[in-house]
Amino acid sequence: MLTLSNNTDALPSVDDTNHAPIEIPDLSDLFDQRQDRRFHVVRPVELIPIGIDGLLDLERRVIGTSRELSVHSVAVDIPAGEWHSSQQLLLGMHWQQQVHYAGVIVRRIKTHERGLFLGAEFGGLAQELIEGDAPLPTFDRDELAFVLPQSPKLYENWSQAGVVEKTLLDRILVCPRCCGVPTFRHACRKCGAGRVKNDRLIHHFACAYVGLATEFTTETGEVVCPKCRQIRLVVGSDFEYLTGENLCGSCGWRDSETELYGHCLRCNWRFEMHQAREQELHGYHVRRLAPLAVITDSI
Ligand SMILES: [Zn+2]
Ligand SMILES: [Zn+2]
Ligand SMILES: [Zn+2]
Repeated sequence: MLTLSNNTDALPSVDDTNHAPIEIPDLSDLFDQRQDRRFHVVRPVELIPIGIDGLLDLERRVIGTSRELSVHSVAVDIPAGEWHSSQQLLLGMHWQQQVHYAGVIVRRIKTHERGLFLGAEFGGLAQELIEGDAPLPTFDRDELAFVLPQSPKLYENWSQAGVVEKTLLDRILVCPRCCGVPTFRHACRKCGAGRVKNDRLIHHFACAYVGLATEFTTETGEVVCPKCRQIRLVVGSDFEYLTGENLCGSCGWRDSETELYGHCLRCNWRFEMHQAREQELHGYHVRRLAPLAVITDSI
């Protein structure tokens, strides 16, 4: 975190007995000075070339040491013979027991007795990919599926590199054919149709008769047992409602059970629930390098 607590000499005195208005120093001046200045910051860094497809080339990862850091640029020493002349890189800087990442574009390369000196600016594709909020899967209205801003291959590649932390957010059931998002219904076990109605039954406790609710109801709305003729039956104390057979409005099948069926909104495939594919939704987090915080911590 950025802290300016080391710069107490720039803060106003607090023992002002005259209670004159305290002049607050303009901290933005300090900030501006730091923006333009380069600071001597020596920390272990790693450099990973990035392709135009955003994939990191892990085989060509190079370990080095930072020499200078500013808000806009970084200078790094790497051992001789390890450079493969990539211009766009992902830079990871070790700071506070963790690696913080930034995208860089190499602007200068110089050889010296111990190896190479690289001067780079923050920016480029890697920086674009890690900027903004952590990528989370969102429902895409056109795709009718959960998608991430970039291809799944890219996130796998970055996870393998240890650059992003992958967190399981949810496990959802999707279409077994196309991973689209389905709707679900209690459907006919024979044909999968959702047009299933079931008869409401009444169980009269006193005589144990079970029949259709319509048989028990009189024109005046009273409940009368059609078998034993007992009148004014009260729900709960005299009788209970039961669910009767299911009747399919599509194929006419009668059944005591229904089956959960999914229907894919994307490809229109109808499938039994147990056939649904389980899709894991992951969020990805990358620790971004904040040069000013590292500079403030290092001086
Ligand atoms: Zn049916
Ligand atoms: Zn009865
Ligand atoms: Zn589908």
